[in-house]
Amino acid sequence: MKIGVLALQGAVSEHINMVKSLGVEAIPVKTVEEIKVIDGLIMPGGESTTMGRLITKFGLENVIKERIKEGMPVYGTCAGMILLAKRIKNYNQFSLGILDITVVRNAFGRQIDSMEVDLQVKGLEDPFHAIFIRAPVAIDLGSDVDALASLEEGVVFLKQGNVYASAFHPELGNDPRIHKMFIESVKSFLNK
Ligand code: GLN
Repeated sequence: MKIGVLALQGAVSEHINMVKSLGVEAIPVKTVEEIKVIDGLIMPGGESTTMGRLITKFGLENVIKERIKEGMPVYGTCAGMILLAKRIKNYNQFSLGILDITVVRNAFGRQIDSMEVDLQVKGLEDPFHAIFIRAPVAIDLGSDVDALASLEEGVVFLKQGNVYASAFHPELGNDPRIHKMFIESVKSFLNK
């Protein structure tokens, strides 16, 4: 099993280390050829407008969409969640248009740069200590989107088919449970 972490910008090495700590191969990817041969893709946090521009510049839009259609699991964190959304509130910027959600960028107010919350997550027994950095939330979820964790401002962890997205950063910190959940979905994709 090989997990690719989109390496155009943002928190790449943290995801790679977290996946490796679970005994799974993880590599940075930034070309069409590399994305064709991975079994799961993580889209990291960073700056969604910059990353969107780079996805276009490197011509990666179609290959990512095709692999998602094939059923390959994808997990977007923070800016990655914004890039997967169909709708972005108040911004006219690139996105892949996969997740049937409206994303609100910087949803916790510009003055709140980061925060940490013990979050109740569907499927996890104990709360997850979640780190948010200028984070978005999701609202207006389509009927096939499963909300896995929510705060007052909106949904912060969700799943639609083979695509996961979180507003927080599980790659920062040392709790691998969210990555484990994602890797389980890659396992079942490979066993199909
Ligand atoms: N605020 C950033 C954006 O809108 C996302 C921040 C992050 O990924 N940590 O793109």
